[in-house]
Amino acid sequence: MSVTGMHEKDRLQLIALVEQRISELQKILSDSHPIAEKKQSQAGDAAANLDLTINAPVGEKILSEHKIELSQLTKNIAWLKTDEAGVCIRCGCDIPTGRLKAVLTTRQCVACASSND
Ligand SMILES: [Zn+2]
Repeated sequence: MSVTGMHEKDRLQLIALVEQRISELQKILSDSHPIAEKKQSQAGDAAANLDLTINAPVGEKILSEHKIELSQLTKNIAWLKTDEAGVCIRCGCDIPTGRLKAVLTTRQCVACASSND
């Protein structure tokens, strides 16, 4: 069925990994955004307040990096569901599954990624 060299099992594993990462990122982004608002609404709850104080200093820079990662991962999910899954978008070679699992945002092989424009 698959026209690529990627095993269906690997592809499903990768999709699961990316989906897991996407939900982690969505949780981080929704938890950390309106910090001030949350503190007010939970003012009566000392434990929740303490928790917020510990987790609060998520920098804007980190948040915007998370947003970029999230949009890359969303694109990768779509890519992993096509016949082009695991095929380098630049040179067309098969990207090793180990690399795809290690770098969930990538759609390039090592050679292409390291010679990035
Ligand atoms: Zn390549």
